[in-house]
Amino acid sequence: MPHPSSAISPASVFIRGGRIIDPASGRDEIGDLLVENGVISASTAAPGGDLPVIDAKGLIVSPGLIDMHVHLREPGGSQKETIATGTRAAAAGGFTSVLAMPNTTPPADGPNTIALMRQRAAETAHVNVFVSGCITVGMKGEQLAPIGSLYKAGVVALTDDGHCVQNNELMRRALDYARMFDLLTLDHCQDYNLSAGGVMHEGYWSTVLGLPGWPRIAEDMIVARNILLSQLTGARIHVQHLSSADSVRLVRDAKSRGVKISAEAMPHHLALTDASIEGYDTRFKMNPPLREKSDQDALFAGLADGTIEILASDHAPHASYEKEVEFADAPFGIVGLETELGLFQKLLINDGVLDWPSMLRKLTINPARLLGLDRGTLAPGAPGDVTVIDPDHAWKVDSSHFESLSHNTPFDGWELPGRATHTIVSGTVVWSLN
Ligand SMILES: [Zn+2]
Repeated sequence: MPHPSSAISPASVFIRGGRIIDPASGRDEIGDLLVENGVISASTAAPGGDLPVIDAKGLIVSPGLIDMHVHLREPGGSQKETIATGTRAAAAGGFTSVLAMPNTTPPADGPNTIALMRQRAAETAHVNVFVSGCITVGMKGEQLAPIGSLYKAGVVALTDDGHCVQNNELMRRALDYARMFDLLTLDHCQDYNLSAGGVMHEGYWSTVLGLPGWPRIAEDMIVARNILLSQLTGARIHVQHLSSADSVRLVRDAKSRGVKISAEAMPHHLALTDASIEGYDTRFKMNPPLREKSDQDALFAGLADGTIEILASDHAPHASYEKEVEFADAPFGIVGLETELGLFQKLLINDGVLDWPSMLRKLTINPARLLGLDRGTLAPGAPGDVTVIDPDHAWKVDSSHFESLSHNTPFDGWELPGRATHTIVSGTVVWSLN
């Protein structure tokens, strides 16, 4: 079982009278939860002594949330984010574990960079950090990274995220190796020829605004490729940040045939469409791009019927000077860790797409199982990672208060219905509201 890197020591805490939701076991009841010496206890007896007590009346007590798509930017991007600031943002958003993407500088394509990232996390992280390694050397898509050495160095997944391996034969070989180690391969699905030069969704708005289009077919083509390669190799593939209706349909069909494919959705693709780009605001520029209402409807349907089993942020910090340029020149991506839980509640629960247990499943046990982590559950003996959520704590997004070093969000000023009140890692309260 892979171990996370974090600077948190095990502790104890008693959480009283909350609505305990553990999707892994189907538990959903009012009760008390004890974390003892960093581990979920089978006992719910109120302990004596000076143990910290959290009054969770009216609050939800969930397994610690896991975000399996986060860019921490360290090493090499400390003007955007560091492991310390990114994990502080994660804690503030209710996340107890994150999976760091390997597109750092240098890229995490060998055991030395993985060791460096794990060391920095062990010294500075506020939550558990798991690391992924590159599929190809330098994410150039030309030569396989040393997958066996990456596995030995502790990666829990492989990805060239931000890039996409275009050579199908190389991807096939990568998957053969990944299968040997039962490593999940995550793919940023983008055909470079079909999306060449594209900076926003190809459609009505790209025509009106005169910006080059990044069409859905560029995503769909690689999703289809991955389904075929998973069938051929037997390797598990996870398609990242789905944005297109046809991609959802392809994944649904493949799953019904038993193909080992999984998928994730991001809050921005659920909340916004390409019409938001009307003012050429670079905060609405991401990859894959914001698409149309019909794509959003397909994403909601895919979340409701289980086709899409993962919710994540694609937290992608960029300094303001990088985003304050012409739309075509701005980098892709937005920060997401501090707003995603509230956005998911607003868009999925308050709008009736999912209930709390089915939404929390996509943020806890589902990512844990895909990545092979011993987390994402409140079962006795599991690591004492817990998120306490107030579903009635309405708040207004103000990026100037973010813990993240970066503030590139399109959600400034949005009213969100709820948020995490306590983030607990191994029994230690690493963040609390107020
Ligand atoms: Zn990506």
